[in-house]
Amino acid sequence: MSIWDVEKSKHKSFEMPGAKPHYNPDRPGQVEHICLNLSLDIPKQSVEGTCEITIKPVRNDIHELIFDAVNLQITAVTIQEIAQRFEYDGEFLKVYLAEPTIKEERFKIAIAYGVIQPQRGIYFIQPTEFYPQKPTQVWTQGEDEDSRFWFPCFDYPGQLATSEIIVKVPAELTAISNGKLLNVISDSDHKIYHWYQQEIHPTYLMTLAVGDFLEVKDQWQDIEVNYYVDKSRTEQEARLSMGKTPRMIEFFSEKYGYRYAYPKYAQVCVADFIFGGMENTSTTLLTDRCVLDERAALDNRTTESLVAHELAHQWFGDLVVIKHWSHAWIKEGAATYAEVLWTEHEYGAIEAAYYRLGEARNYFAEDAERYRRPIVTHVYREAIELYDRHLYEKGGCVYHMLRTELGEELFWQSIHAFVQQNAHKTVETIDLLRAIEQASGKNLMPLFDQYVFRGGHPEYKIGYSWDSENNLAKVTVSQTQDQLFDLRIPIAFGFEGEAELKTFTIRIFEKEQALYFPLSQKPSYISFDHENNYLKQVTLEYSLAELKAGLEFNPDPLAKIQYAEAIAKKGSLEAVKALEKALLSEPFWGVRLEVAEVLASIKLDQAFTALAQGLGDEDARVRKTVIAGLAKTKTQASLDLIKPILKHGDPSYNVEATAASCIGDLAQALSNQRPPDGVIQLLQTTLTEKAGWNEVIRSGAIAGLAKIKDSDQALETILLYTAPTTPQPLRLAAIRALGTIGKSQTKPKTEQILNRLEVIARESFFLTQVSVVIALGQIDSSGAIRILQALSNQTPDGRVKRMADEAVTKVQAAIGSDASIKQLREELEELKKNNQELKSRLEAIEAKSNLFS
Ligand SMILES: [Zn+2]
Repeated sequence: MSIWDVEKSKHKSFEMPGAKPHYNPDRPGQVEHICLNLSLDIPKQSVEGTCEITIKPVRNDIHELIFDAVNLQITAVTIQEIAQRFEYDGEFLKVYLAEPTIKEERFKIAIAYGVIQPQRGIYFIQPTEFYPQKPTQVWTQGEDEDSRFWFPCFDYPGQLATSEIIVKVPAELTAISNGKLLNVISDSDHKIYHWYQQEIHPTYLMTLAVGDFLEVKDQWQDIEVNYYVDKSRTEQEARLSMGKTPRMIEFFSEKYGYRYAYPKYAQVCVADFIFGGMENTSTTLLTDRCVLDERAALDNRTTESLVAHELAHQWFGDLVVIKHWSHAWIKEGAATYAEVLWTEHEYGAIEAAYYRLGEARNYFAEDAERYRRPIVTHVYREAIELYDRHLYEKGGCVYHMLRTELGEELFWQSIHAFVQQNAHKTVETIDLLRAIEQASGKNLMPLFDQYVFRGGHPEYKIGYSWDSENNLAKVTVSQTQDQLFDLRIPIAFGFEGEAELKTFTIRIFEKEQALYFPLSQKPSYISFDHENNYLKQVTLEYSLAELKAGLEFNPDPLAKIQYAEAIAKKGSLEAVKALEKALLSEPFWGVRLEVAEVLASIKLDQAFTALAQGLGDEDARVRKTVIAGLAKTKTQASLDLIKPILKHGDPSYNVEATAASCIGDLAQALSNQRPPDGVIQLLQTTLTEKAGWNEVIRSGAIAGLAKIKDSDQALETILLYTAPTTPQPLRLAAIRALGTIGKSQTKPKTEQILNRLEVIARESFFLTQVSVVIALGQIDSSGAIRILQALSNQTPDGRVKRMADEAVTKVQAAIGSDASIKQLREELEELKKNNQELKSRLEAIEAKSNLFS
């Protein structure tokens, strides 16, 4: 027993070793315009040209300028054709101005430069030996600090300028960039595109996308809306995926109180993209994995949300720009909340509430499993680390709470004020608070203090009882988290057969509070935080009668889900009956899905029978959850139910994939009763026959095989699909599957798996590295730690580095202190050895110097 155990926080720290405070640099002047004039050599993966930057100095007598410029070849720097002396170290370009600056006297500095085989910033995609079908494309990715890898600049979001890109590309390709297309000049072999962005924006939003695209034209008012997909896709697929864009532009223009600000909106779907999407000003890039086909569109709303998210950034991020990455939640939270807003507009309030719950849960998972941090922080290793579930999902939930606190009218007035006042400017969190205060008179600093400037969220335990003698409802609320929250929460009482609830808004601020509510009659159910607008977690300690009534009658889907969870915890036959009824009669699919999920946690045969009825649900998302739930019982009966789904098919890719993954799990669980050969055979047939959209089904089959740990055949098949000729999404699934099958594996197999992962870890593609890290993080072996550490040291990507470091910690914990101590000992021995060598060398030097003294 040690006092340190008591003191230790439950949550891991966000700050990794090496994290430090980050600030914007001093500003020598205002950058007014950036003009790139470039020529691409795609086979050589190189760019050559000039970057001309117009600067208006902020003061007199500046003699030097320092630009961000990583791994460029700088050939000349001139001002009005007069060469300027410069120094370049591969990271910063320092220019000694021949004439010192005169305040506000603008000048143009021209930098002639080249880029060869860049590691970041600009990406060259071409057919390879293994992927001869891969399209030829060039695209850029600036956020957060990668524009400096393709042009010299002051690379931070605090500088806004107009921009211009003139680019020479092979004649058969199209080049798309920010703003307006001024002209295209062609000769027999080349085309020169000239794009001009006349609204000011930061360097990280400058972009270029080049390829042989299918262009699909759409329109909103007088603004061109274009979708670009690879030629192998159809116009119908492009419209299926992005066709709601004009309606979304209409919606956000109206909601945000500011008409879409740019002359066009293009969405370009590119291969091997390293994010889901990137909101470059007026030219969003999207991963080509988001392009749907008819069947994928059945139960995929991710693409629609992605389109809404990136579009919302055209206001939050591009029009209103964050001054520093530490305030990135202003834009990411807003864009994440825009997904909720669009869902509400398109599918209704119930769907939107459920979507918001999904976002909250993503944040809760990161908070519980990874780390807890304030949303606003400027202490990190690399800014990209901030792009996490706190920034996006928790940020989105904060916007929703602002809407709750202010009410519909004042919230939108505040948003309008914020956007209008800060259009074409940079902002920090305080600017949002000020806009709210100006538009509504309300000071929301207390809410920001609790949810934005510090980590965590309230975790409430709620009890209820009825005092029939005095007609009093007693509600007890305790806050079980460390730091108390002080919020005004609506507590409502519902009565069967009455649509209207009786609501009291109560300040909840103490560790424990007992509240008494006089009511005319006994309520049927209690709704704590009615409509669930506050970001929080709850444990409901109500009796089954109130929970059942709530599940049936409370109109709020999130409350229904909380009741269902609490009912399942009771675990009784009566609980099963209540859940079964909801599974069969609840109109909203999200509640049915959640009910299926909790039914699966009840260890009763009746729960299994009830759940099995959900296999016939009309919604694919529910069917998928039912299958996963049935598989949890690990019985022959569930295998018998699930196997035919894969054999005979389902309209949804996801349902078939889940079935494939689950039967693998079941075959392993039942392997002492019967050999898993039949299942392995079925999964292998799936692999040969069910190639298709994003390889969803075949990836499910690989996940299924990965569960059959004891089978040599399963491992051999997975290894086969890690070959570089395998279609990329399937190969990534196979790499990740090596982690699943490698967990607690025999020594020779572990070695075989680690050998393969070590080879793959040398590949530079971002998604491959991520898959390798995910796999290694599951393998409890010091060999995995060694590969992870090597990857962490070598990767140029801050996200991969962080994931690898976190995986090392995870594996170390898994293999237990024994192995970690062994490793520490080895490291200590190594240090001792180094120390000894150093000492020997030092002594040798001293001995020599003594000779001369
Ligand atoms: Zn975003």
